[in-house]
Amino acid sequence: MFSSKDQFKKTFLKRLEMLCGKGFNESTERDHYQTLGNMIREYVSKDWIRTNEEYRSKNEKQVYYFSIEYLLGKLLRQNLINLGIESVVEAGLDELGISLDELEDMEADAGLGNGGLGRLAACFLDSIASLDLPGHGFGIRYKHGLFEQKFVDGYQVELPEQWLRHGNVWEVRKADMAVKVPFWGQVETKMENERLVFRHINAETITAVPYDMPVVGYRTSTVNTLRLWNAEPSPFPVHKDILKYKRETEAVTEFLYPDDTHDEGKILRLKQQYLLVSASIQSILNSYLNTYPNLEEFHQHVCIHINDTHPVLAIPELMRILIDEEGMGWDQAWYITSNTISYTNHTTLTEALEKWPIRIFRPLLPRIYMIIEEINERFCHDLWEKYPSDWQRIENLAIIAHDQVKMAHLAVVGSFSVNGVAQLHTEILKQREMNQFYQLFPEKFNNKTNGIAHRRWLLKANPKLSELITDKIGLAWYQNPIELRRLLDYQHDQAFLDELDRIKHDNKRRLAEVIYKQVGIAVDVDSIFDVQVKRLHAYKRQLLNILHIMHLYNRIKEDPSSDIVPRVFIFGAKASPGYYYAKKVIKLINAVADKVNSDPQISNRIKVIFLENYRVSLAEKVFPAADVSEQISTASKEASGTGNMKFMINGALTVGTLDGANVEIHELVGDKNIFTFGLSSEEVLHYYQYGGYQSIEYYHHDSRIKQVVDQLISGFFPNVYNEFEPIFDSLLAENDQYFVLRDFASYVDIQQQIGVSFKKRNEWQKKSLINIANAGYFSSDRTIKEYADGIWKIKPIKGWD
Ligand SMILES: *Cc1c(COP(=O)(O)O)cnc(C)c1O
Repeated sequence: MFSSKDQFKKTFLKRLEMLCGKGFNESTERDHYQTLGNMIREYVSKDWIRTNEEYRSKNEKQVYYFSIEYLLGKLLRQNLINLGIESVVEAGLDELGISLDELEDMEADAGLGNGGLGRLAACFLDSIASLDLPGHGFGIRYKHGLFEQKFVDGYQVELPEQWLRHGNVWEVRKADMAVKVPFWGQVETKMENERLVFRHINAETITAVPYDMPVVGYRTSTVNTLRLWNAEPSPFPVHKDILKYKRETEAVTEFLYPDDTHDEGKILRLKQQYLLVSASIQSILNSYLNTYPNLEEFHQHVCIHINDTHPVLAIPELMRILIDEEGMGWDQAWYITSNTISYTNHTTLTEALEKWPIRIFRPLLPRIYMIIEEINERFCHDLWEKYPSDWQRIENLAIIAHDQVKMAHLAVVGSFSVNGVAQLHTEILKQREMNQFYQLFPEKFNNKTNGIAHRRWLLKANPKLSELITDKIGLAWYQNPIELRRLLDYQHDQAFLDELDRIKHDNKRRLAEVIYKQVGIAVDVDSIFDVQVKRLHAYKRQLLNILHIMHLYNRIKEDPSSDIVPRVFIFGAKASPGYYYAKKVIKLINAVADKVNSDPQISNRIKVIFLENYRVSLAEKVFPAADVSEQISTASKEASGTGNMKFMINGALTVGTLDGANVEIHELVGDKNIFTFGLSSEEVLHYYQYGGYQSIEYYHHDSRIKQVVDQLISGFFPNVYNEFEPIFDSLLAENDQYFVLRDFASYVDIQQQIGVSFKKRNEWQKKSLINIANAGYFSSDRTIKEYADGIWKIKPIKGWD
């Protein structure tokens, strides 16, 4: 049906009639989108079935990626690209007077994630399938993804997101593969045949129904599966109040938790976590036992990867099945479990480490809690043998302590691999945050620097640049992104650099249109597009960026002739609804934007644009248009970052601290092609450990700092009373925990240098080229190969290299 344009048109029109019961003339854009989506899914289904059969018959080891989030974005065009039918479809639609771009607008972003962690999972799925690796995702089918953000009077307002409003063309409900997940109740312990047996009784069960989505690899017949679970009432509830039961059950997969750092202490969240893990393991075992007689060699054929600690209950759940259902002894069950599970740590922020109060945990998951208790007791016993009388160390390392279950400790103890997500992050884990675990299990720790799906973030997002690259170095970089290095040969090719410049300009013009539509402000595409898009967090320091903008405002006011290169500062950021401080920063950015944009003396030099509702589809429009990438987290705090990589591959230059993967960007491009500033991670960690930083000194000794900080509370912003006092206090009364004032001067300096550098157009374009050429390393293809070889020990079905 996609073999030629005419074939496509014929099938499309026939399908449209069948599916929508309408002739072409009365059909709507949504009908067209539904029709095309259905055609693609059908086209894929043969390969999907065949891939599954191949996995079954070949008995190759499989990896299952467990993640509580998948930030997929839109799938239509990416699927067309991966299938190699984009141009046939686009041309065919065109002849019918239908624009593929407009059909793409019909598709809702699948926003089942908060930010970097969920987007990483989505990029990994793309790379796993594209590399012909036998790997599948498991997650939750939230009815409402991450909230939709609106600004009202400069404040963030959250609206429920409704991605399923018009259905989801990519999913297939598999009601016959539903499984039951038990909660509450008690554990009955009995002796049977001289063996203790445990039964979970009086449980309330939820039925988990899988919805499968095909994961199409790039130009390969491999189609893997993303299985998302939906919570539904079990058919015959032993429940007094059926309506209440139904409501409570459906609530479990209703909302994604819009919080990616604080531990949300909610029973619902724990229910989500256990539902994901229990349903997924049951589904894995069902298919496993079709092929293998028992579970004794499970770990040789299956790897379960947990993306952060949210799915860590996979460890006690697998133990429970092996012991309670398979009748295995503890030691054998532990051997199999701890050789099946691998774990990625995503953060060292202590407030983000999941801990569950026993009083919540035990009643909800009584048998799982018992097993964790036993894991803990045996672990502490081993520790006692290894470190006799070292109570302090044992208390530090224990899985259960101070009436809480520490999920990260369970993950390290119950897995065979613990990886960080960038070199610096892994070193901090090993040498500091998890040092005592590292001493105990040095062999478990390893690094896997994050990556991005370059076929989404370059090939799809930036078609013009992609075309230029392909013109010069051929197509090989699609599947072998390290080939981008061959662009280095064109560093001195003036015509090529001019082309790069023209494309960036084009992309900026397109973003300028988006900006005009959204905020009604016309921006000058010759000015620097300086972009910070990411979740709003104190440690990411959007505050530093906006204080610098206030400083530029002050400079222009004091000296209208001061030499400031015109710049458009672009922000995109959602704040967690309960994160008071982050919301204050949003309001501040909007207040500065109002002040700057409405003052003609200022706004012909700088503008501030805060785009609403930052999400994957908006991100795809932003990265290709950026000149400057703001990666200014307090050093040591950003585990990796992946936005930094998306900017780099689109030719933006990074202004950043030596944090997360910025360190590796710096290594790759060298000092001349990145703008680094601020405290190093060692300096930051030294301050945290030994003290010695007094933010008030920076306030008093740097008049630029004093001026902008005072403006937060001085009536500088009209119509806000005490609005920004909490920010003022965070900087002075609370001694500026994120070193905003400490890094302010060096940030101002580097921003000045960026202005100078941007004016040297040729040099800038060369730097941009060097960034693009070195960005292949950050493809998630590279990352996934490292996981496959180093952790999962899986091989491609067809063979790479
Ligand atoms: C890449 C991405 C992120 C992560 O950005 P960081 O700068 O690494 O925090 C967050 N949200 C979206 C929509 C993304 O595409």
